Amino acid sequence: MTSSKANKTQPAAERPSRDEAEAAVRVLLRWAGDDPEREGLLDTPARVVRSYEEFYAGYQVDPREILARTFSEVDGYDEMIVLKDIRFESYCEHHMVPIIGRAHVAYLPQHRVVGISKLARLVDAFAKRLQIQEKMTVQIADTLNEVLQPAGVGVILEAAHQCMSTRGVHKAGVTMVTSRMLGTFRSDPSTRREFLSIVGNPGAVAIANT
Ligand SMILES: [Zn+2]
Repeated sequence: MTSSKANKTQPAAERPSRDEAEAAVRVLLRWAGDDPEREGLLDTPARVVRSYEEFYAGYQVDPREILARTFSEVDGYDEMIVLKDIRFESYCEHHMVPIIGRAHVAYLPQHRVVGISKLARLVDAFAKRLQIQEKMTVQIADTLNEVLQPAGVGVILEAAHQCMSTRGVHKAGVTMVTSRMLGTFRSDPSTRREFLSIVGNPGAVAIANT
C-alpha cells in the first residue's frame, strides 16, 4: 500500500531559504528573456515565492491528521456519504503548471464518520503539492480508507491540465478522469453505480479504471 510514503511531508532542514528561492526566480526571469532588475519585475521574485507557499501548502499538512477527529455516533446511518464537485487546484509535477478540476469523494461508513469539510480539506492536502492526477486519486482514496476503515471508498477526479492546453499538444477543453474504488465500491457493482449516478457519471473512463 502506498500511503506512509505518500503522506510524508518534506523535512524542514532540506528547505532552501527565502532568499535562495527568490534568487532562483530571478534566474528563471532571465531564462524567460526578461530583466529582473526592471521596475515591473523588482518585487516579482518575492511575490512568486509567497505564491508558492499557497500553491504548495499541502506539504505542511498531514492528511491523516485532518481525518483524526471522527464521530462514532452515527445513529444507525449506513448509507453512502458523498461530497461531490470539490473544486481543487493542483500542479503538474512534470511542468509545474496548474491542474484544475473537481473531486468526488464517497465512502460507506462502518463505524465512524468525519465532518464533510474534512473531505474537502483532505483533497486540498494532496492537491496543494506537485502531482500527477493518478497519484492524487490513489492518495485521497487510500488515506480515507486507512484512517476511517469504512466498508468502501470511491474517489473520482476530473481535471483539465494546463500543461496540455497551454503547451505541448495545445488541446484545450480536454478533461482527464481518474478513479479509485475500494471495498464495496470495487466489489459491488450496484454501490459503484449508485456513486456514479450521484456524481453525474463523469465518463466511461471512471468505470474502466476500476
Ligand atoms: Zn504536465
